[in-house]
Amino acid sequence: RGKKSIERVTELMKDPKHIRNIGIVAHIDHGKTTLSDNLLSGAGIISEELAGKQLFMDSDEEEQARGITIDASNVSMVHEYEGVDYLVNMIDTPGHVDFGGDVTRAMRAVDGAVVLVDAVEGTMPQTETVLRQALKEQVRPVLFINKVDRLINELKVDDTEMQIRLGKVIDKVNKLIKGMNEEAYNNGWKLDASKGTVAFGSALYNWAVSVPFMQKSGISFKVVYEKCRAGDMKYLAKNSPLSEVVLDMVVRHLPNPLEAQPRRVNVIWHGDKETKEGKSMLACDPKGPVAMMVTDISFDPHAGEVATGRLFSGSLKRGDGLYVMGAAKKENRLQQVGIFMGPKRVEVEEIVAGNIAAVTGLKDAIVGSTISSLMEMTPFESLKHYSEPVMTVAVEAKNMKDLPKLVEVLRQVAKEDPTLNISINEETGEHLIAGMGELHLEIITGRIKRDKGVEIITSPPIVVYRETVTGKVENVEGKSPNRHNRFYFTLSPLPDEIVALIKSGDVSMNQQALERRDVLIKAGMDKDEAKSVKDIKGTSMLIDMTKGIQYLNETMELIIEGIHEALAGGPLADEPVQNLKMVLTDVKLHEDAIHRGPAQVIPAVRGAIKGGMLLAGDSLLEPVQKIQITVPMDQMGAATSQIQGRRGQVFDMQSEGDTITVAGKAPVAELFGFAGDIRSATEGRAMWNTEFAGFELVPNNMVKEVVIGIRKRKGLKDQMPQPNDYLAV
Ligand code: GDP
Repeated sequence: RGKKSIERVTELMKDPKHIRNIGIVAHIDHGKTTLSDNLLSGAGIISEELAGKQLFMDSDEEEQARGITIDASNVSMVHEYEGVDYLVNMIDTPGHVDFGGDVTRAMRAVDGAVVLVDAVEGTMPQTETVLRQALKEQVRPVLFINKVDRLINELKVDDTEMQIRLGKVIDKVNKLIKGMNEEAYNNGWKLDASKGTVAFGSALYNWAVSVPFMQKSGISFKVVYEKCRAGDMKYLAKNSPLSEVVLDMVVRHLPNPLEAQPRRVNVIWHGDKETKEGKSMLACDPKGPVAMMVTDISFDPHAGEVATGRLFSGSLKRGDGLYVMGAAKKENRLQQVGIFMGPKRVEVEEIVAGNIAAVTGLKDAIVGSTISSLMEMTPFESLKHYSEPVMTVAVEAKNMKDLPKLVEVLRQVAKEDPTLNISINEETGEHLIAGMGELHLEIITGRIKRDKGVEIITSPPIVVYRETVTGKVENVEGKSPNRHNRFYFTLSPLPDEIVALIKSGDVSMNQQALERRDVLIKAGMDKDEAKSVKDIKGTSMLIDMTKGIQYLNETMELIIEGIHEALAGGPLADEPVQNLKMVLTDVKLHEDAIHRGPAQVIPAVRGAIKGGMLLAGDSLLEPVQKIQITVPMDQMGAATSQIQGRRGQVFDMQSEGDTITVAGKAPVAELFGFAGDIRSATEGRAMWNTEFAGFELVPNNMVKEVVIGIRKRKGLKDQMPQPNDYLAV
């Protein structure tokens, strides 16, 4: 134990063959926190006594009070396997669906995942979501089936039935893997208990088994079953210890950075593989240029902003000057270079490629930034979020004198959590925070009050809508206030296939133009259009089909700015615009630069897009959530009416034993107070969860009411807007 100290960790960090970067992914309540704590204590980073008593990774008070894990934080531990020491860097990921964005970021940093499934509940919707995130990032999974003690002692299944049940969980997870990444599944990622890519046990009682471990130790399945049945958890924890079995599986089956990077870099980085940085990342070369992806930003009261991320190439040392892609081309100087060991950050001399680093001094970095020693390199693919902000709260400082502090705090919060959409209005002092659900926003506003010490007043949450078009308008004209500049756009819905490619990151402004063109042509886009993409914002696209227009190049930046303003708030209700295809068909520009400045170009473009959208058949979209409710059979009626009564739709019912699971969907706008209502309707006997299911059209007969409602709230004219409100000068 003694030598498994910081020195040992820093020694191992230099040798990527002996590193495993992993995350644990699970549905909420399946036991991720318990597993993390007990792995850590077993690996000797914290004492056994501490684990269990204290939720080690949940260093945030809020998380402890709620008993859920919110922030992804990192720990490193040393594990000995077949006489050799390995460094296991574990990133914690949140289990609650409202924090899906954090899972995505964590998966970017790691190479392998322990998928944790409750043996009693089986796979749940959130298991599916997190597994999908892992496989998208080419992160290899192994399986840990938890709470086997409950199967044996509460459900009292016999040992044959137990094997059948475990087999079913494995089959289900395999089916998911195959469906999500068939290529990987066929190339060895299929889970196989006999090969040791599956372990099962009890995180709470600190024991686990796998087939290879049973063979090695001589402890049979039957012995495990009987000892558990007899309640002799001590025997199992001693002879079949959780951390040994699980970490053996991790070290043996999850890839080291040298093995993982070629596969992963190919998917998460679209630059030229023949460049110095490309080659170096594929080889995980510590001598190559620095290439790091920032996956987390936190604040340390002493050191300030700490950026955590995966180092794919090069080495980091204090004092190094690095560049943040997408920011000003100005060197950021590294101050501290370290790793996380629990909530503590430990400074080290140097960090080499393949590790997860925590550094200070990167003042221009945000979550998702690409950091390099090169002034310019193709950035990593941006982080994809499977959820989008669907609810907003307005916050104000209680005391006006706190306003500057609140603005500062909101900027920090926005940096820490990229799934939030924060708009700051320094003039009115009313700021909007858009998040992924009621709980997400409650936690963020709670944090602002508690951690940052700013007293705030919070409005009740409001649903975030979207605007888009359902039809087409051609050559709509936008005039500048001085009438000397004119812009013509054709607007239509961006086809679903292309929206999907943008969402998956397969089409982006980060990739090379040629590669983007080819993907778009394959998806059915016209060749000339495919090579003329000028901007992608959210899921909307600007295409420039004009030819040989003088001064257009130098005006393009302003045009894009005008487009961004229109997309940030559409014509109907000033809500974000999505899935809009904007083709620039003609432009007339004043020949004197002074007459085609920002004050002329931006309003002309913004007006053309907004007015054009109304002409093209504007429509309002609302966020919808998938709902799954499990109740005793006789409560089925109560459960279905809770969904149907909320403009919802039930699409599946499945019974198991004496319970039934009802699945459906309903608009977020109707889900306020759902928790309380479902509880009282079912006398507290329902288990339920919700998950973001995308945006859908607001029913026609409701659009006007909703639009006017939003406009009133925002202080806009309380009438349905007309095209000429935007097009007329
Ligand atoms: P998380 O939400 O995934 O982090 O889950 P937690 O680790 O907080 O565990 C949720 C609940 O399940 C807690 O009450 C744990 O004590 C309990 N739990 C976790 N693992 C086991 C286990 O192996 N057996 C039993 N019986 N309970 C467990």
